[in-house]
Amino acid sequence: MAEYKLILKEKEKVARETVSFRFEKPKGFDYLPGQFLTLIYENMPFTDKKGNRRSMSIASSPTEPLIHITMRIGSSAFKRSLEQSKPGDQFTATGPFGKFCMPEDVSVPLVFLAGGIGITPFRGMLKYSIDKKIHRDISLIYCNSCIKDAAYLDEIQKWANDYDFINYIPTMTDKDCVEPEWTGCIGLITPELLRDNLPDIMKPNYLIVGPPGMVEAMVNMLHEQKITDDKILIEKFTGY
Ligand SMILES: Cc1cc2nc3c(=O)[nH]c(=O)nc-3n(C[C@H](O)[C@H](O)[C@H](O)COP(=O)(O)OP(=O)(O)OC[C@H]3O[C@@H](n4cnc5c(N)ncnc54)[C@H](O)[C@@H]3O)c2cc1C
Repeated sequence: MAEYKLILKEKEKVARETVSFRFEKPKGFDYLPGQFLTLIYENMPFTDKKGNRRSMSIASSPTEPLIHITMRIGSSAFKRSLEQSKPGDQFTATGPFGKFCMPEDVSVPLVFLAGGIGITPFRGMLKYSIDKKIHRDISLIYCNSCIKDAAYLDEIQKWANDYDFINYIPTMTDKDCVEPEWTGCIGLITPELLRDNLPDIMKPNYLIVGPPGMVEAMVNMLHEQKITDDKILIEKFTGY
């Protein structure tokens, strides 16, 4: 399997306990928006039984100069080591992997259902659609506990303001701690939320990303609405 050297170029905090790591793009590393890679940290300053590699969705679009990986910071040795990394540090990547990509038929609308950090592959897909001027109908329903946890909230809002083809519906689930300035939706992703925000819930292809429990709940909800598996594509972020 081909291995690529990744050199960290920059880091940025993009939400509470959430950091985006941006790497120089190695020659020959060609990926599709939505795919993931395995990030390997060879000489981690901390170690534990969970090891030194993780699957990570690529949050950038291939049209961007850097490879973005965005993750929740955690207590594992891998995450603590990454938190301490500095520009110039070297990592290894294998990949790209996965078939979690936008279906080719641009006449079919897409609905992205993102749970928390599950936003990462969708950021790459949206940016790719913008940069390639592929203005297919995309609705993004993006679910977080509260604003502080929502990576890319403002960046995607700006894209939605600039491009009519993006229908953006962020929703905050923790009504007891949603910030007072929040004027958007409050609550979980429900059939009512879909019906209120989509012209026809039967027509789109649904792409779902998040922790396994969230993905399973979304698939069950869609099945109850008589939406069939051929219209559903999922990516489960195991490990949370
Ligand atoms: C295809 C795919 C794509 C993915 N893409 C992304 C992505 O883009 N971004 C991303 O962040 N993740 C992504 N993941 C998940 C990622 O691979 C990791 O599994 C995840 O980030 C958890 O990392 P970790 O194992 O270092 O654990 P941590 O983040 O350290 O912890 C995970 C969970 O374990 C708990 N925990 C940790 N340590 C302890 C402890 N000592 N005692 C008790 N509880 C503890 C934490 O509270 C947390 O709930 C993806 C997974 C897959 C399969």
